[in-house]
Amino acid sequence: MRKMLQAAAVLVVCGSTSAFAATVVGPVCNPAAKVISTTYVSCTGGSHNALDVGGVACGDPLYAPLVGVYTYKLYGGCVNTCNGDTCNGGAGNYFVVTGANGWDFRLLHINTDANSTTKTCDRCLLGRVGGTGSATTPHVHMDNRQYGTRKTAWYLNAGTTCGSSASCGNVLGQPTL
Ligand SMILES: [Zn+2]
Repeated sequence: MRKMLQAAAVLVVCGSTSAFAATVVGPVCNPAAKVISTTYVSCTGGSHNALDVGGVACGDPLYAPLVGVYTYKLYGGCVNTCNGDTCNGGAGNYFVVTGANGWDFRLLHINTDANSTTKTCDRCLLGRVGGTGSATTPHVHMDNRQYGTRKTAWYLNAGTTCGSSASCGNVLGQPTL
C-alpha cells in the first residue's frame, strides 16, 4: 500500500507540468451502448487504432466522455446524417481536446444540435450520436493521438474490448492529455 501511495504522489507531480492520464467513460447514457470496433480485437473488420461506440440510435444524446473539466473544441460545418458522407475529410463534425506534448483526444462523426459549441465542461451534452463523415452506421469514434498518430494503449491497458459495455459510467480508457 505504501508503494501505491508513493506512485500516486509522483503521478500528481508529473501531471502538473506535462501530459497525464485522463479517464474516459461511455459517451452515451444508454445500456445498449457497446464498443463496436477497436484495433486488435476488431468487430467489424476494420483496424483503425481507435474505439468506436455504437449499438444505439442515431440521435441519442452524446456526452463529453472525459471525467473532469476539459475544453472541447468543435469543428463543425457538416449537415447531420446517420449513415455517412465525406465531410471534413471523413471526420464529420468533431470535437478535439488538446493536451500537452502533442497529445489530443477526439470525438468524430457527431450530429450537432443546440448543445454543440466549443465549451469547457465536465461530462456535459455535446450533441447527438450521428454518422457524419466516414461512418456507415451511427457511432462515436474516439481516438487519442500524439502529433497526429493514433495510439491504442489508452484503451488496451484498460481492458476494453469489442462488445464491452460503453454506456456512461463505464471506464473505457485512460488517454494521455
Ligand atoms: Zn472509428
